[in-house]
Amino acid sequence: MTCHCDDNLVEPQDACPRCGQRHVDNLIWIDDGQRVRCATCLFVYTPPALRREGGDDHDQQP
Ligand SMILES: [Zn+2]
Repeated sequence: MTCHCDDNLVEPQDACPRCGQRHVDNLIWIDDGQRVRCATCLFVYTPPALRREGGDDHDQQP
Protein backbone atom coordinates (compact mmCIF):
# COMPACT_ATOMS: atom_id res chain seq x y z
CA MET A 1 0.00 0.00 0.00
CA THR A 2 1.20 3.44 -0.84
CA CYS A 3 1.21 5.79 2.08
CA HIS A 4 -0.60 8.88 0.85
CA CYS A 5 -3.35 8.11 3.29
CA ASP A 6 -3.63 11.04 5.68
CA ASP A 7 -7.39 10.85 5.16
CA ASN A 8 -7.37 7.54 6.95
CA LEU A 9 -5.90 8.90 10.15
CA VAL A 10 -8.09 9.75 13.11
CA GLU A 11 -7.66 12.94 15.09
CA PRO A 12 -4.60 12.93 17.38
CA GLN A 13 -6.79 12.94 20.48
CA ASP A 14 -8.60 9.84 19.20
CA ALA A 15 -5.40 7.89 18.63
CA CYS A 16 -4.59 4.81 20.67
CA PRO A 17 -3.42 6.09 24.07
CA ARG A 18 -1.10 3.14 24.43
CA CYS A 19 0.83 3.01 21.18
CA GLY A 20 -0.36 6.09 19.34
CA GLN A 21 -1.96 4.23 16.46
CA ARG A 22 -4.01 6.61 14.32
CA HIS A 23 -4.82 4.64 11.19
CA VAL A 24 -8.52 3.82 10.91
CA ASP A 25 -7.74 0.40 9.48
CA ASN A 26 -6.03 -0.46 12.75
CA LEU A 27 -8.70 0.99 15.00
CA ILE A 28 -11.69 -1.33 15.06
CA TRP A 29 -15.03 -0.23 16.51
CA ILE A 30 -16.50 -2.66 19.01
CA ASP A 31 -19.43 -2.62 21.46
CA ASP A 32 -21.81 -1.00 18.98
CA GLY A 33 -19.53 1.94 18.37
CA GLN A 34 -18.87 2.75 22.00
CA ARG A 35 -15.27 1.66 22.07
CA VAL A 36 -12.33 1.09 19.78
CA ARG A 37 -9.82 -1.73 19.78
CA CYS A 38 -6.35 -1.00 18.52
CA ALA A 39 -5.23 -3.76 16.17
CA THR A 40 -1.59 -2.95 16.83
CA CYS A 41 -1.46 -3.42 20.61
CA LEU A 42 -5.02 -4.73 21.26
CA PHE A 43 -5.73 -1.92 23.67
CA VAL A 44 -9.42 -1.07 24.04
CA TYR A 45 -10.49 2.49 24.75
CA THR A 46 -13.23 5.04 24.24
CA PRO A 47 -12.10 7.85 21.94
CA PRO A 48 -12.30 11.25 23.70
CA ALA A 49 -14.42 12.63 20.87
CA LEU A 50 -17.07 10.01 21.54
CA ARG A 51 -16.84 10.49 25.29
CA ARG A 52 -17.49 14.21 24.82
CA GLU A 53 -20.57 13.46 22.76
CA GLY A 54 -22.15 11.03 25.19
CA GLY A 55 -20.60 12.28 28.39
CA ASP A 56 -23.69 13.96 29.78
CA ASP A 57 -25.85 10.90 30.08
CA HIS A 58 -24.95 10.04 33.66
CA ASP A 59 -28.62 9.84 34.55
CA GLN A 60 -29.22 7.22 31.88
CA GLN A 61 -27.37 4.36 33.48
CA PRO A 62 -28.74 0.97 32.43
ZN1 LIG B 1 -2.43 0.68 20.25
